[in-house]
Amino acid sequence: MPLQLPADIASRSTPFYLYDLTLLRQTLTALQAAARPRDFHVHYALKANANAEILALIREHGLGADCVSGGEVQRALDTGFAPQDIVFAGVGKSDAEINLALAADIWCFNAESVEELVVLNELAGAQNRRARVALRLNPNVDAHTHHYITTGLEANKFGISVSELAAVIELLSTLHNLELVGLHAHIGSQITNLTVFADLSQKLNEIQDWLSDRGIMLPHLNVGGGLGIDYQRPEENPIPDFEAYFRMFEENLVRRPGQQVHVELGRAVVAQCGTLISRVLYVKRSQQTNFAILDAGMTELIRPALYGSYHLIQNLTSQGSRQIYDVVGPICESSDTFGREVALPETNRGDLIALRSAGAYGEVMASNYNLREKAPAVYVG
Ligand SMILES: *Cc1c(COP(=O)(O)O)cnc(C)c1O
Repeated sequence: MPLQLPADIASRSTPFYLYDLTLLRQTLTALQAAARPRDFHVHYALKANANAEILALIREHGLGADCVSGGEVQRALDTGFAPQDIVFAGVGKSDAEINLALAADIWCFNAESVEELVVLNELAGAQNRRARVALRLNPNVDAHTHHYITTGLEANKFGISVSELAAVIELLSTLHNLELVGLHAHIGSQITNLTVFADLSQKLNEIQDWLSDRGIMLPHLNVGGGLGIDYQRPEENPIPDFEAYFRMFEENLVRRPGQQVHVELGRAVVAQCGTLISRVLYVKRSQQTNFAILDAGMTELIRPALYGSYHLIQNLTSQGSRQIYDVVGPICESSDTFGREVALPETNRGDLIALRSAGAYGEVMASNYNLREKAPAVYVG
């Protein structure tokens, strides 16, 4: 699927984020077509992209909201997500954030530590409420992804380790303002090897057996998010293989009778519908390298600088013969580089450049470092 550009692109100032809402709708339709017949409930992870236009479509397609801050809980409420469709995770929920979520009566807190459970119990009591909680477990499953986006190993800060579970269940029996409704796990992001989700399922099965032996049946299981996308070939693979993803859980995760299973996807929903559009400011030729210097940088899209991530770079203007460029931004940091030794058609000042698959963890991570203005969002489709 080739990139859909706005008709007036020639006169638009750059950089800007371009979102293809037709592709987003197709992605959401494919997602629900795979999830619903198998009775999976999908929550969208707002942290991937929280633009109102995008959230409105996501809500219309019947997804819930997975939030990791008070700001995201508020945004979800403001965009019309029902409180009973909102979950709230995060290792460091502040009292103000917890109080906001309690007052809104969101569906569930995914609690990440004993210390948090104690505070949550106290704050719920002060509001005369009972908070529903799921325990975020650290299942010690290796997601085989970048170490900065792996979250399910003992060494990570996230979740409660399985060895603590007995003590936590014991403690919960004394925390009368909390109702334990489920287990939660989220082991990492950009997971393309689906057997990782089978490993996670096996771990959850073992934990559920352990709970069953103690007479505990929890009505909800939340297996988190993390499904990856094809950054190399966004045009060939614009929509992730949701069928294979849900099949993996269907075949490996043992559900207790009546148990509801939830997933929380961010990247897989929105990454491919977004593109960062910029122009070439200068082509600077040096003895070793030709630099294509863009008017977009790490202030608009930090993933390459932060995690060494790959984004497909396309010259939308030139049809010339291929040459090799280091594609960089204008920011005063050497890490402000989108790609080294990239083959592009001969590139000149003023050419339009697309950085593909930037809909997730792109605009939401923008900063105004160097006092740069925020790049606007433009919608097509
Ligand atoms: C970030 C996050 C997600 C979504 O991750 P993706 O890789 O974007 O699918 C889901 N759940 C939690 C708790 C998260 O922090």
